[in-house]
Amino acid sequence: MRILVVEDEVTMAESLRSGLQAEGFAVDVAPDGEEGLWLAGEVDYDAIILDLMLPKVNGFKVCRTLREREDWTPILMLTAKDGHLDEAEGLDTGADDYLTKPFAFVVLLARLRVLLRRAGSERPTILAAGDLTLDPASHDVQRGESKIDLTAREFSLLEFLMRRVGEVVSKTEIMSHVWDFNFDGDPNIVEVYVRSLRKKIDVPFDRSSIVTIRGAGYKIDKDGG
Ligand code: CA
Repeated sequence: MRILVVEDEVTMAESLRSGLQAEGFAVDVAPDGEEGLWLAGEVDYDAIILDLMLPKVNGFKVCRTLREREDWTPILMLTAKDGHLDEAEGLDTGADDYLTKPFAFVVLLARLRVLLRRAGSERPTILAAGDLTLDPASHDVQRGESKIDLTAREFSLLEFLMRRVGEVVSKTEIMSHVWDFNFDGDPNIVEVYVRSLRKKIDVPFDRSSIVTIRGAGYKIDKDGG
């Protein structure tokens, strides 16, 4: 899942970045509303964390502009305790939720999970493909009763594939949702990660849930291989 953080306070922005990355999210940070709007137009983010008081274009305007563009990416608005936020106004501009600073990171994470789950079509709390299950909140991955340990990036890749279970997902889509702009390496990294995932979720169980579709991408078999 790829997240855009629009926040001008460097310390806050960097702590959000590192906290979210540790949870397996790909994260881009924009230091002002203008850059936030630009990035949101370039990348199909899964959610946006948007500060209210921002240089150039404030959070309200960013939000309104995105909705005018018919961009319905879930938005979690951050507001200052002594700020001018009227909660109703924040939600009126199209934000999906708001959080008052200072907040605990775990609270932000929980709210973000709710927004991601709510977004788009109905998303179950626990993702499943046959007996392969993934819980986005607890990070538990299991094949039947067996727990599987994944790295943050492997988890993120599997989560992205499992949210689209049964659909073919291109390497480009995977790149843009699982890696951030700071990644400037070889796109074949996707293959490397698919291989390491297979070694953990398929090979030991004699299954083949990740199917390679030549020239198109990958899909997770809806029956779990
Ligand atoms: Ca600010």
